[in-house]
Amino acid sequence: MAQMRLASIKLAGFKSFVDPTVINFVSNLTAVVGPNGCGKSNVIDAVRWVMGESSAKNLRGENSTDVIFNGSTQRKQVSQASVELRFENVEGKLLGEYAHYHEIAIKRVVTRDGDSQYYINQTRCRKKDITDIFLGTGLGPRSYAIIEQGMISRFIEAKPDDLRVYLEEAAGISKYKERRRETENRIRHTRENLTRLLDIKEELEKQLTKLEKQAETAKVYHELKKDESRLQAETFALNYQNYEQELVKLEASILVENNKLEELLTERQSIETALEKDRLQLTESRDALGEVQKQFYQAGSDISSLEQRLAHHQTRQTQLNQDCQQTETAIKQSDHTLKQDTGQKEA
Ligand code: ATP
Ligand code: MG
Repeated sequence: MAQMRLASIKLAGFKSFVDPTVINFVSNLTAVVGPNGCGKSNVIDAVRWVMGESSAKNLRGENSTDVIFNGSTQRKQVSQASVELRFENVEGKLLGEYAHYHEIAIKRVVTRDGDSQYYINQTRCRKKDITDIFLGTGLGPRSYAIIEQGMISRFIEAKPDDLRVYLEEAAGISKYKERRRETENRIRHTRENLTRLLDIKEELEKQLTKLEKQAETAKVYHELKKDESRLQAETFALNYQNYEQELVKLEASILVENNKLEELLTERQSIETALEKDRLQLTESRDALGEVQKQFYQAGSDISSLEQRLAHHQTRQTQLNQDCQQTETAIKQSDHTLKQDTGQKEA
């Protein structure tokens, strides 16, 4: 049987131990003495509490947070209680993962919101990890190893079943009984799991049939989809060919139209050139017409001035003719006179 020796208890905020207090157990026999109400039983409560005692009644309280220092006339209440038990693994008899430790510190902390935490050597653990350590060691929250006031009389008055539990724990049988219970539990769980698995298997088989049908449908769907894709591709190819031919035709007609356009542009160009030439000619013709008109008017005015001069000359000629006749008449007159005179003289 594994053996561990309780070396010290560290309390803080636990029941009457508001200030951190360490109680060392230097020898195997330690007596706690003191007046009534000084806190002797609280020390035992502390040991039980750390080992996982969860019944508030067994800790002489109403509920789980009653172990936290509740305040006194001089002190305010505190918000958490913690107790740490330090065990020496003196004979190295502790088995399992803690076998190589010389010392094991087991700690429990509770806060006012009821949050309870367990630690083994400062590492968080489950409550079960702690009860497992003490299984079969005679130590435990309700074990015979903690003998407090009134316990001896309880032993004597115990019912045979309870006494048997104490004796089995002392003989180290409880550990095996516990393991057997656990194993039986596991077997029961496994059986239950097996039944559940069979149910699941049946359910899965049903689903499988359904899924196989669905798979068949999916296959048909897949085939049809493939056909659809192929037909779509073929339609696309055909359309593509048609469009391509159409495109070639359209490109050819664009070329023809472009050539026509080119020709028309050239024609337009030559028409514009001719038009420009005609415009120039028109301008020239207009200039020439202006010139001709000018000459025409000039000629008109020249003619009228010549006609004036002619009329003048005619008038003068008539005048001169008259003058000439008068002169001839005068000459004839003179000749006659002369002849008369010559005749008269000769005479
Ligand atoms: P007795 O010799 O009568 O058995 P005892 O030494 O065993 O006395 P305990 O029962 O350990 O005394 O301690 C009782 C004292 O602890 C009381 O004074 C009580 O007020 C105080 N106490 C218990 N719980 C708390 C708490 N949560 N907060 C503050 N004080 C508490
Ligand atoms: Mg007491």
